[in-house]
Amino acid sequence: MTPPSRRARAGHVPRPIALLIACCLAIAACRKAAPPDSVDTVVLFSIDSLRADHVGALGYGSPTTPSIDSLAARGVVFTRAYSTTSWTLPAHVSMLTGLDAEVHGVERDGFTIPATVRTIAERAQAAGIETAGVFSGPYLQPVYGFGRGFRTYANCSGLGSDDSGLGRDWVGREEAQRRTRESVTNPCVRERVAAWARSAPRDGKRFLFVHLWDVHYDYAPPPGYVEIFDADYGGTTDFSEVFLNPAITPEMHPRDLRHLLALYDGEIRWTDDTIAGILADLDGQGMLRNAVVVVTSDHGEEFFEHGGKGHRRTLQDEVLRVPLVVSWPGGPAIGRRSDEVVSLVDVAPAACRWLGLDGADVGTGGPLVDGARGDRGRGRDDALAHLAQGFTVEDHAWVGHRSKAIEHRDGTIEVFGPPEFPASDRKPVETLARGDLDRASELATHSVGALDARVAEAKERARLLHPSSPRPTAAIDDATRQRLESLGYLPRAETPP
Ligand SMILES: [Zn+2]
Repeated sequence: MTPPSRRARAGHVPRPIALLIACCLAIAACRKAAPPDSVDTVVLFSIDSLRADHVGALGYGSPTTPSIDSLAARGVVFTRAYSTTSWTLPAHVSMLTGLDAEVHGVERDGFTIPATVRTIAERAQAAGIETAGVFSGPYLQPVYGFGRGFRTYANCSGLGSDDSGLGRDWVGREEAQRRTRESVTNPCVRERVAAWARSAPRDGKRFLFVHLWDVHYDYAPPPGYVEIFDADYGGTTDFSEVFLNPAITPEMHPRDLRHLLALYDGEIRWTDDTIAGILADLDGQGMLRNAVVVVTSDHGEEFFEHGGKGHRRTLQDEVLRVPLVVSWPGGPAIGRRSDEVVSLVDVAPAACRWLGLDGADVGTGGPLVDGARGDRGRGRDDALAHLAQGFTVEDHAWVGHRSKAIEHRDGTIEVFGPPEFPASDRKPVETLARGDLDRASELATHSVGALDARVAEAKERARLLHPSSPRPTAAIDDATRQRLESLGYLPRAETPP
């Protein structure tokens, strides 16, 4: 009998068996790496005004988002996620209903969510699921319909009333208004989420929506945060009242612009730290044991890439592209990236699927649910956006896998494509008018055709959804109106002579 070789005695496994074991381990690892199809808790963070390219998981070089990056490591980051518009009110309606801006139609100041439209919270509450929301900006107030379906909807905006029943008034109305003006609402949001977590039922499913305002201008992070990004600024420029401040222009000194961006990044980092604190609080109450956490934004922010500041002016990528991370905090470190084109309208149907709710009338949730599993999403691979200005002027945008088209209010159409797209859409590969389409490239013809088809589909869905007119409007109070004026969203009221 031949004695076993030294390698076999030492535990050596013959090559075919080793390969078989490796294959089995790989299959087991893949299975383990798949996120669960249903969860007990869905937490949806919306970080107002956070542009995608200032997030570490999406390639930003400065340490703005360690917590979001860590969530991305336990989930999937969508590298090409788009909002449905470039301002707060309609974008959040899309996020919470699964409907494009042109479909839900809440696109002008004073409009409110129609009764024919259902939010995630309404669907969850109807199924007996615990629902809670915390908001911190003027356009998220219940007067716009956002409170519908939430058992508690806590107000950190410093405007209106807070009837959330989550305990003591935060710091008093005047102080709250001052802090909101100065963009300091993160502590309130964390406190309100913690209060809810302490009092929420221990059993059953939960949907928690958290709106964080402080990345929105003005950019005034707490001491220490701007220094992370710009420690040696010695300028004297006043960066307050960003939107109305005449010193903040495309002609401002590059060093001042760099500091403005550092202030923005400081707000992002502070908000990222707040998210870390909120997640720690939720974890401490055992609420993340079987949970999915979604982090996204309603729109981006422009810093003169196309001549302007803030948002709500264009549908260019700096305001339209948003971060979108879907994470299982207690799950495997799958760390996936998906390059499919996804939209804020994919959030609501995906949340419904994870919570076991019926959201089929607004979508399957496939792009996010399948993307998280590492599968290619079923259905479309594009996004539609719309920006209404007044009652007759509007911009449309369509984003596909290979190209993007924007039809501007003046009738000009910009088409973006390779090699700039999707890395950057600053320079169109083609600019044309409708009358030029018969002489346009195949890329432009395809992109404009896709835009037209999606707009026509959206208009038909809107017609079926809103059979009656006029549209429901929100009665906003004087303080909200003044706040929206100070942010540049509403024209300042004429002072009577
Ligand atoms: Zn916003």
